[in-house]
Amino acid sequence: MIYSRDTNSHVILTIDLEDWFHLLNNSRTLDPKNWGGFESRFDNNVERLLKVIDHHGVKATFFVLGWIADRYPEIIKKIASAGHQIGSHSYHHQLVFNQTPYDFEKDLVRSIAALENVSGQRVECYRAPGFSITEKCTWAFEILAKNGIRIDSSIFPARRSHGGFASSKIYEPGIIRTKFGDIYELPISAVRSFGASIIFSGGGYFRLLPWALINYLISSQSYTMTYFHPRDFDPDQPRISLPPLTKFKSYVGLVKSLNKFDLLLKHYDVVTCDAFEWTSKYSDNIWEI
Ligand SMILES: [Zn+2]
Repeated sequence: MIYSRDTNSHVILTIDLEDWFHLLNNSRTLDPKNWGGFESRFDNNVERLLKVIDHHGVKATFFVLGWIADRYPEIIKKIASAGHQIGSHSYHHQLVFNQTPYDFEKDLVRSIAALENVSGQRVECYRAPGFSITEKCTWAFEILAKNGIRIDSSIFPARRSHGGFASSKIYEPGIIRTKFGDIYELPISAVRSFGASIIFSGGGYFRLLPWALINYLISSQSYTMTYFHPRDFDPDQPRISLPPLTKFKSYVGLVKSLNKFDLLLKHYDVVTCDAFEWTSKYSDNIWEI
């Protein structure tokens, strides 16, 4: 983390590295035992995304599944050696609030080992599958700190179908204090309007909203955390049976999303989580867990 008084680069670029079938709202895609039976679209989807990122010469933080690292070690090596930051997105992509602390730690340790082994980088950054660290499982932060994680980006400050930290009022970076040490929290960005949180900087929200509005919202914020998946740019991915709203959010705007992503990288000096300029005002945001 870079400490600075100026925040020229306030947009953080992050990608959750998983395949198109790593969806949490369907029991078939949730169970790792079924993953081998799905068509893999990972190579092509990652290549498409890296092409745009490389074109702009920027670096991103990739939150990678340990399962992905074990199956596609060459791709992860290539991403790491290009200077991108590798973080953990867990090993088996399970919802945190459905796990015991013991199972969560076991999965985390396995993912860190797989990612460090393949990338050669020390893994110090984490994002929970589906932003599933909620008010009910803040014990997860202790376990993250205990295992060497110092930057987390799991807090989603709005209600969602799974996870969400709606009542927390954590809209800005801050420090989560645990008995195993501090964690720098970089939450998903939200704009507060009429008592609601509007999400705009990733996933289905980024695909749904027009670029003019996204651009306006990013330029009006002092901090923007983005989040993308390779499947966000794959209009031809197979469709999975999902609840209606989730289905809409999962598949809306897939055709135009790559153009918008290109515009984002053209307009903003995006940085990794590690290179984000941490200002003193964020150090005053302290949450005891
Ligand atoms: Zn995920």
